[in-house]
Amino acid sequence: MTETSVLIIGGGISGLSTAWWLAQQGISVEVWEADDLPGGKIRTTSEAGYTTERAAGLLVNFRNEIDQMIQQAGLSYSKRLRDETLNRYVVHNSELTQVPMLMPALLASPLWSLSAKFRLMTEIMIPRSHQEDETVSAFIKRRLGREILDTAIDPFVSGTLASDPDLAEARSVLPRLKALEKRYGSLTMGMLINRVLKRRRANKAETFSFSGGMSELIHALADTPGVTLRCGMQVESLMKNQDYWQVTACNAGIQHQISVPHLVMSTPADIASGLLKTIDESLSRLLSEIEYVPIAVLHLGIESSRINHPLDGTGFLVSRNNRLNFNGNLWMSRLFPERAPSQNTLLTTYLGGVRHPEQIDKSDEQLTAQVLSGLKPLFGINGSENYIRIDRHEKGLPLYHGQYQARLEKIESRLKRLPGLHLNANYQNGVSVRERIFQGHRLAQTIAVTLKPGERDLRQEQPFVLAHYQAVMNSEHS
Ligand SMILES: Cc1cc2nc3c(=O)[nH]c(=O)nc-3n(C[C@H](O)[C@H](O)[C@H](O)COP(=O)(O)OP(=O)(O)OC[C@H]3O[C@@H](n4cnc5c(N)ncnc54)[C@H](O)[C@@H]3O)c2cc1C
Repeated sequence: MTETSVLIIGGGISGLSTAWWLAQQGISVEVWEADDLPGGKIRTTSEAGYTTERAAGLLVNFRNEIDQMIQQAGLSYSKRLRDETLNRYVVHNSELTQVPMLMPALLASPLWSLSAKFRLMTEIMIPRSHQEDETVSAFIKRRLGREILDTAIDPFVSGTLASDPDLAEARSVLPRLKALEKRYGSLTMGMLINRVLKRRRANKAETFSFSGGMSELIHALADTPGVTLRCGMQVESLMKNQDYWQVTACNAGIQHQISVPHLVMSTPADIASGLLKTIDESLSRLLSEIEYVPIAVLHLGIESSRINHPLDGTGFLVSRNNRLNFNGNLWMSRLFPERAPSQNTLLTTYLGGVRHPEQIDKSDEQLTAQVLSGLKPLFGINGSENYIRIDRHEKGLPLYHGQYQARLEKIESRLKRLPGLHLNANYQNGVSVRERIFQGHRLAQTIAVTLKPGERDLRQEQPFVLAHYQAVMNSEHS
């Protein structure tokens, strides 16, 4: 046994945020991360005057827990808010078209036909359905009509979640909209009531990053007193030993072992599945069946004078049936000006996902050429780029396809037979950084109430064990 109450496998945002919340409650926690750096998918790179994000570039927040973390982690001063007046665009019929955010603009928008606008206005009269496991497409067509699905919801689901609305489960991907229908019988009615009652901040999300990019959040969490992060620790096996979980990892050819009452697995689903094979075959199978899609991210730096468009927005998503073979483009230096050298613009394009999984296999030259040929007619770009960086994720995002909540419920019921074992990663309850931090908070609360007396901070209660452990670790590293 060691001095640690909770071991977390995986130092991405899911693992680190859980560790942070546990540490706030005085619970001793270690994070074992296979990579040399923490952050998982999230990593900020600064080179040639450009600052780019390998995965999450923005945090869209309406939850108090995230505000609390940012404040307590000392990140309030480096928070960089997006300019709220920026427009949003969608590429529709091969043209950049502004997405209306207010009712008068919506009625005047060329995005939808008159009958689609009428259909939208009558949403309030459509009866509530109790079908739990319908797809995003079925749900949106039923409530808002086909055109809204094609031009607003499909670009969002395929562009930001790399998913397919025809296969994605509505209550997993659009949980707040489904909840509005369930509670109020109508999305319009629910939004109006929430607005009048000023409930939560559902209508007023804040979008931001940090002055040093998203890695600043990662480092702040990793450096928190009470969180012990060990990088280079590739976990290879698990064993249940009475009330303890015995975990073995390999670091530079040396084996390390730890026994803990609580184990949190924050790795991608296939890794968790492999590690749990000998512990619970059914649980392992449920995890192995979760699908992931590849995503490539192409960052392009270009002199601003070569772009013949005001770039007065956050970027654009791409609606169905367009010839572009990428899913969206963020105007990063419009969102956060310090991301590009002055007089230059940073454009970040997302490729792959369910729509175009084959993109990940293309060479850098092919990806760059096709993105430029897609952007040139939209922005009137003349001349060439002065900076290119491409990040690839073989397993970019998990897909909440099929009867996904039913799968998660089965996973939960298997976990009940394995006390002290917890899962927290982006294949459950939302892929966004916001939901990852929120789920970390919920899990830390659950662990805190289930810790037995004496397990909360074993470090304080068993200094001799800590001294022994440190001596062993020192000898292994010397
Ligand atoms: C291209 C892209 C853009 C995105 N943009 C946004 C955005 O703008 N806003 C937003 O909110 N979200 C965004 N997301 C989603 C968000 O970034 C991810 O869902 C989130 O970062 C995943 O975090 P995680 O900790 O669950 O998983 P991961 O980041 O995958 O972390 C898992 C960790 O487990 C470690 N690990 C694996 N095996 C082992 C082992 N055997 N032993 C020890 N450690 C192990 C890995 O090394 C990794 O560090 C984006 C995602 C992608 C891919």
